Amino acid sequence: MAKITDVQTIRTRSNGTWVFVKVLTDQPGLYGIGSASDHYRAKTVVTAIETIAPLIIGRDASHIEDIWQSVYTSGYWRNDSIINTVQAGIDMALWDIKGKEAGLPVYQLLGGACRSAVPCYAHAAGDDLPALEDDIRRYLEEGYPVVRCQLGPYGGGGFLGDDETQRPKNAAPQKRSFDDEAYLENVPAMFAYLRDKLGFGPKLTHDVHEHLRPHNAVNLAKLLEPYRLFFLEDLLSPEQVQWYRQVRQQCTTTQAMGELFINPHEWTPLITERLIDYVRVRVSKGGGITNCRKIATLCEWFGIHTAWQEGGDNDPVNQMAAVHLDMVCWNFGIQEENHFRPEEYEIFPGHAVLDGGHLYPNDKPGLGIDIDEAKAEQLMDPDKSARSFFMAEDRRADGTIVRP
Ligand SMILES: [Mg+2]
Repeated sequence: MAKITDVQTIRTRSNGTWVFVKVLTDQPGLYGIGSASDHYRAKTVVTAIETIAPLIIGRDASHIEDIWQSVYTSGYWRNDSIINTVQAGIDMALWDIKGKEAGLPVYQLLGGACRSAVPCYAHAAGDDLPALEDDIRRYLEEGYPVVRCQLGPYGGGGFLGDDETQRPKNAAPQKRSFDDEAYLENVPAMFAYLRDKLGFGPKLTHDVHEHLRPHNAVNLAKLLEPYRLFFLEDLLSPEQVQWYRQVRQQCTTTQAMGELFINPHEWTPLITERLIDYVRVRVSKGGGITNCRKIATLCEWFGIHTAWQEGGDNDPVNQMAAVHLDMVCWNFGIQEENHFRPEEYEIFPGHAVLDGGHLYPNDKPGLGIDIDEAKAEQLMDPDKSARSFFMAEDRRADGTIVRP
């Protein structure tokens, strides 16, 4: 039996937004690591880990489920994004320890691999249609089985310049204005162009980033139906998910949702009423391997697949946790791609290998990934990591904020 002796935090990336939990035990050299990164609240997560650590120090590291339940109710209120992240970091570290004790990779402990590697979807983008087409072709040639297609930046396709829209005389200056009707015009036209050029062979997705008003979101799903998307991602904001019922009544466009979810009351009705087709919780925001395995199992019985979220701010340890789940869940669908800079990969010996549009785990015991703490410290820029980071704000012509 390994007893937990300490819970430490490691911050890295040049901007300090990556946070890792390191759980140490009384067995020589036996420790585990987990991801607790939050791009916008890294320092808050560190404080939360320090607050929760005394609850688990001294406990048997093998009691993963019991520790999960214990941390879950430890603050009375639950299901918030910070505590979920801490809980996930501890959970991943305990699975890492269990695997090291057993001498087996985590995916073996979870039932064993049911596929040979993890297919990923790439992020293609272009400021105009030919540039987007070129980017998609590049990813397809590289081996990606699925490609996400975006017009320019986050929310792209829906932006108008000052000369294209009517703004109030007293409006504050803003670079661009988000407009639902422009989006409804441009995104279906984008897919008409892509299907004309690429045919229906390539599996294509699109991410709405929750920008549309709900009734327009229903309309977009319907307008995209002829283009047979692999899935349409984040059509509605978390506050408006009940509109998925209307989407289902109107069209057969495949729906992927969940990267902002932190609460079982968000994902459970969408799964049990079969209102979405792919669940996209981020493993570290969904409570870690233990809880996301439960989400995946619930999905399996309702015919829904997994597409765990990644995105540019995510880290290699969370990616590895997702890969272990991807390897064992029969109802895995697709994994969002994420890649890192060479100096970032260097910090994580054993990281998953992204090659030809697929992620490959290794067969080392535990998660199979470690952290070089000296290199992690070197990479962190003291000035950048002292700053706060905030989600970019998109606004409508009259200055109203658009919720991501
Ligand atoms: Mg998304």
